[in-house]
Amino acid sequence: MSRKFFVGGNWKMNGDKKSLGDLIQTMNGGKVDPNVEVVCGAPSIYLDFVRSKLDAKFGVAAQNCYKVPKGAFTGEISPAMIKDCGVNWVILGHSERRHVFGESDELIGQKTAHALENGLGVIACIGEKLDEREAGITEKVVYAQTKFIADNVKDWSKVVLAYEPVWAIGTGKTASPQQVNIKTEGVAEGSVTGGTCKELGSQKDVDGFLVGGASLKPEFIDIINAKQ
Ligand code: PGA
Repeated sequence: MSRKFFVGGNWKMNGDKKSLGDLIQTMNGGKVDPNVEVVCGAPSIYLDFVRSKLDAKFGVAAQNCYKVPKGAFTGEISPAMIKDCGVNWVILGHSERRHVFGESDELIGQKTAHALENGLGVIACIGEKLDEREAGITEKVVYAQTKFIADNVKDWSKVVLAYEPVWAIGTGKTASPQQVNIKTEGVAEGSVTGGTCKELGSQKDVDGFLVGGASLKPEFIDIINAKQ
């Protein structure tokens, strides 16, 4: 199956209306490769704002959601609420959710099922920590993470699997082109920048990126255009 090259921006807990508004203006005015699917992961409080300002050719994602439709779950948001803001994607299982907030493989699987049932596209993140890589259990860890997600997926056309080695995230360290060549029916990789995107994008098993820090800068346009 062939799919469009995918570039996700993960803005994490960054920005305000002013700075995100400026970024959106740059993106809306930029010349972007029409063969690339672009989705921006906005902080939940700004989903409505971002969706109303960002050109319709760009998708928007929430950065998390819960596993049930509604109820007494203070601080959580549901896929239905995300859709109500005109937003069609959610990032699930990001390593910061897994390791800072203690989300388990099982919970991420349940969230994946619920998000898909409610018509959201899911950017599902997997990736090993440095100690796991050094202990030689990268495949075991990534396999288990993937299985909990895969067991909850019926239609892979709605899922982007983002492989992000945790030791490469937010450090400025980039996994080598060889390290990112994993075989998946999906996307992507750790710290991608305007400087590294062309080489990474040309690797045979890389069909997209999930970009953190650099997605908040004008160079995000260069990353979107990495395949040109
Ligand atoms: P980074 O983050 O590009 O800043 O390394 C990637 C991510 O966490 O999704």
